[in-house]
Amino acid sequence: MEGVLVTGEARVSLEGECVRCLEPIDDDVDVTFQELFLYDDQDLQGGDPEDDGVSMLEDDLLDLEPLLRDAVVLALPFQPLCEDDCPGLCTECGALLKDDPDHTHDAVIDPRWAGLTVLQHDEE
Ligand SMILES: [Zn+2]
Ligand SMILES: [Zn+2]
Repeated sequence: MEGVLVTGEARVSLEGECVRCLEPIDDDVDVTFQELFLYDDQDLQGGDPEDDGVSMLEDDLLDLEPLLRDAVVLALPFQPLCEDDCPGLCTECGALLKDDPDHTHDAVIDPRWAGLTVLQHDEE
């Protein structure tokens, strides 16, 4: 009666970086959206309807872009990961733990004891 109810589905491709390992991510996200677009000949009381978050038809046309953009933004992962259990980067050397999961470093020496390593080298 008062407008056109629009229901849609869209598939968008994402490009980004994993927040843990900074590897590039390529992904697809499916979004659905629904919105009522009011006829623009309606006499809405007070003010610009756009300000109230109401979608209006414009001469039988409707602008999908804001609708699609909002749906996609909501569907985007807050912290994108290349895979759910991405191990990230080594905190010591920045190596990619996914490619080199077993690599280790000598235990970090407590800075308060670091001076002793000098003595050790002297003895050698
Ligand atoms: Zn990752
Ligand atoms: Zn490392």
